[in-house]
Amino acid sequence: MDETKSFHMTPEEFRKRGRQVVDWLADYMERVESLPVLARVEPGEIRARLPKAPPETGEPFEAMLRDLDQIVLPGITHWQSPGFFAYFPANASGPSILGDLVASGLGVQGMLWQTSPACTEVATHVMDWVVRMLDLPEPFLSTSNGGGVIQDTASSSALCALVAARERVTNGATGREGSDGRLTAYTSTQAHSSIEKGVRIAGIGVANLRLVDVDERYAMRPDALEAAIERDLATGRRPFFVSATVGTTSSNAIDPLRSIGEICRRYGLWLHVDAAMSGTAALCPELRWIHDGLELADSYCFNPHKWMFTNFDCDAFWVADRSSLVRALSVLPEYLRNRATESGAVIDYRDWQVPLGRRFRALKLWFVIRHYGIEGLRHHVRRHIALAQSFREWVERAPRFELAAPAPLNLVCFRHLGGDEANERILETVNASGRFFLTHTKLDGRFTLRLSVGQTWTEERHVHAVWEAICRAAP
Ligand code: PLP
Repeated sequence: MDETKSFHMTPEEFRKRGRQVVDWLADYMERVESLPVLARVEPGEIRARLPKAPPETGEPFEAMLRDLDQIVLPGITHWQSPGFFAYFPANASGPSILGDLVASGLGVQGMLWQTSPACTEVATHVMDWVVRMLDLPEPFLSTSNGGGVIQDTASSSALCALVAARERVTNGATGREGSDGRLTAYTSTQAHSSIEKGVRIAGIGVANLRLVDVDERYAMRPDALEAAIERDLATGRRPFFVSATVGTTSSNAIDPLRSIGEICRRYGLWLHVDAAMSGTAALCPELRWIHDGLELADSYCFNPHKWMFTNFDCDAFWVADRSSLVRALSVLPEYLRNRATESGAVIDYRDWQVPLGRRFRALKLWFVIRHYGIEGLRHHVRRHIALAQSFREWVERAPRFELAAPAPLNLVCFRHLGGDEANERILETVNASGRFFLTHTKLDGRFTLRLSVGQTWTEERHVHAVWEAICRAAP
């Protein structure tokens, strides 16, 4: 074999291609507004454009760049378009992309402190910063009994919280012997589907998940929660876990954490708080009411990858007492043993999550926070909320439209008075324009339009234009 032969990309070529890719992305940012927001392809269309077999010999880099334009872009739904008002945002930013690139370049797998001390320590430090930035409770600091870990998604955080809660209430017996089928969990009818998924995966069983009724604002009713707990206790069940939501996916409802937390304390239940999108609002002191009562929570998460300009994936998860989490998730085989772990002086984040391996996600969050500063992040969050609130006012003033739910932050749920079909048609027409992408929900069984403002590049003119398009599409 010819030992001098190599197929690798040399550092010199990497430098050249890297510049091309960054240029391509900068061009993308400049032109994304002109691309149809919602991909206009049929199922299978993108695959049909790809060669059937992988190449036997390597291809020139130019061919890959060309296919990005010709094959990939037509199949992209442009989450980074200023006309993206669907779901909740997954916004991105220059510093975040660059931080992620550095993480890829370093190629670190940070399962243990030893496998890259900086990967752990930057994460711990940044998560402590975020506690201060959002004014979260002191126990979430790594310097107290709790601490934070960056997960991939809010779904993973909910699962980790469920498993930690399960082990706390059964003193480790469930982890050893499996569930006895008596544990019951609670969340509202409006909670995200990830809670149900977590309940399934954690072996609690969906039959043991109670979906608690909500009030007229779609927020969990504490009296209904307590009644459900009492009913379960009376039939020999073991209530152990409540997930409350700050900013539900359908309508941005804020569950009353204080009342829910007091119930959890009274009955000894773990309280998890899912603030996936809306948690970012707490950057602004005037919006911290959304977290009133959070000091009663055992765990909390929000997604910087939704509204804090940090590329997917980046979920920030904290626990008030890390021992429950670590006890639930720690398995130490011989091949991972090392002196630092045994000294007890370090955090090994593999014990705080489901997978063993970890990407260096903290880099992108660190870059974002340092680039914008708290001031910059607050500025843009306030701006998004102001835009959504203008839209809310236009809806309220329009005789043929109505608000479908309170709009406390950056999501507006609204509908045309013409009924479900009229609203479905409006949605189809507006999305078919290619300039905007909105999605819907059902509230009290009625088809409801949602306008979610949070994309990095969205400005007043885009919100104006989407309202005009909606009015034009209305019967
Ligand atoms: N929780 C809420 C309230 C959400 O809105 C979402 C997603 O929109 C999730 C959880 C799930 O987020 P992830 O994709 O990070 O699991």
